[in-house]
Amino acid sequence: MEYILNVDKEAGCLFCNAPKDADDERFILKRGKHSFVILNLFPYNPGHLMVAPYRHVAHFYDLTPDEITEIGEFVKLCEKALSEETHPDGFNIGINIGRVAGAGFDGHIHVHIVPRWNGDTNFMPILGNTKVIPEGIRATYEKLKRYFED
Ligand SMILES: [Zn+2]
Repeated sequence: MEYILNVDKEAGCLFCNAPKDADDERFILKRGKHSFVILNLFPYNPGHLMVAPYRHVAHFYDLTPDEITEIGEFVKLCEKALSEETHPDGFNIGINIGRVAGAGFDGHIHVHIVPRWNGDTNFMPILGNTKVIPEGIRATYEKLKRYFED
C-alpha cells in the first residue's frame, strides 16, 4: 500500500521520474540504451510489467527504429520471464494511447505485458482502471529480477 500512496502523490511523469531513482526503489527490472522494464504498481495481475522508452513521447509514431527494436526485445524478455516463472495460460500485450483508451499516463507511451490465467476475470478491466494488488510487488520483483540480468 505504501507504494501506491507514493505514486498517487508523485508529481510529473512516472516514466520520466522512475529511471532517475534506484532500480529496487522503483522496481525497474531492466535498463537498456533507449528503454526500460518496470513493474506496474497498479497491476491487473501479479507480474504485470511495462516497457517504456526513456524519452517522453506520447505516440508509437514518435519512436525511433532503435527504440522500437529495443522495446520489442524487452517485450520478448518479459513474456519469456513470466512464462518461465509464473506459467500463465496466456498474455495481453499492448499499448493504450490516450485516456479514452485507458492510458493512466497518457503522455509517455508504454507497452503493457499482462500474464493471464484461466478464470482470472474478463479482459475489459485491463484497458480501464486496473484493480489494485498491493501486496507482493517486492516479492514479484525479487522473483523476476534474475531473468533480466545480462
Ligand atoms: Zn515521461
